[in-house]
Amino acid sequence: MPELLISVLGSGSSGNVTFVSDGSARLLLDAGLACREIERRLRTLGVAPGHIDGVLLSHEHGDHARGAWRFCAKHNATLYATEGTYRCLKPLPDKPVDWVRIRSGSSTKLGRMTVDFFPTPHDAADPIGFRIRRGRLSFGHVTDIGHISEAVVDGLRGCSAILIEANHDVDMLRESDYPASLRDRVGSRLGHLSNDALARYLEHRLPGAVRHLFLAHLSKQNNHERLALDCSLEALTRRGGRKPKIHLTYADRPTPLLRLTESRELVEDTKQGVLAF
Ligand SMILES: [Zn+2]
Ligand SMILES: [Zn+2]
Repeated sequence: MPELLISVLGSGSSGNVTFVSDGSARLLLDAGLACREIERRLRTLGVAPGHIDGVLLSHEHGDHARGAWRFCAKHNATLYATEGTYRCLKPLPDKPVDWVRIRSGSSTKLGRMTVDFFPTPHDAADPIGFRIRRGRLSFGHVTDIGHISEAVVDGLRGCSAILIEANHDVDMLRESDYPASLRDRVGSRLGHLSNDALARYLEHRLPGAVRHLFLAHLSKQNNHERLALDCSLEALTRRGGRKPKIHLTYADRPTPLLRLTESRELVEDTKQGVLAF
């Protein structure tokens, strides 16, 4: 029976990496931690870093791409990035990597999974979100979005699990000691998503099929886990119907492995390393 295994290895401005596999291919969505730290966190799941087939980049900012070159070069993983993202990556690799150019609005087959790419509203060269499909399962992944665009709503359509940004509380951002230019950038339509904007999406546009919701990229300075959780839960209550399970994500550790199947979901204790890849 098809399944998707998902663990968010790290999330937030210090580095974003998500592991996804259906057993036929193993992928990283973003690689914003140092290569060695990605390797260490993969091993806690029981995944050998050398078994990662591809690294897919949402955009070129350091907290999403920092470890991409080195990881791909060291482990012969293919790098999937838009031309705009690829051209902005720094520093250049000491060893060439296998790069596959991807485009917003296109799809590609990786193992038995199909990955759809869609544009996201963010101040980067050519940023994208992902929807990974296998059988009737699909996992949508969008972070670093200044607002919920129609392309994002479309991209997440039909998903059974979603990772989405819950970056800041608007009052905390307004009162923060950030310089005005940074405050304006984060709060802009090409910056980062607030708890309130996420709540509006959850109440009015969240697909009915979603059973798991990962809250990602929480700001350390301008948000609290409790605030993001309460704001999302209240929105889901107003929406009515079956509530998806909410998963927090962390800067310093992976989330327990979620095993998403067509009939049931398991959250596994990954301390022992449950995968045998
Ligand atoms: Zn960014
Ligand atoms: Zn980011």
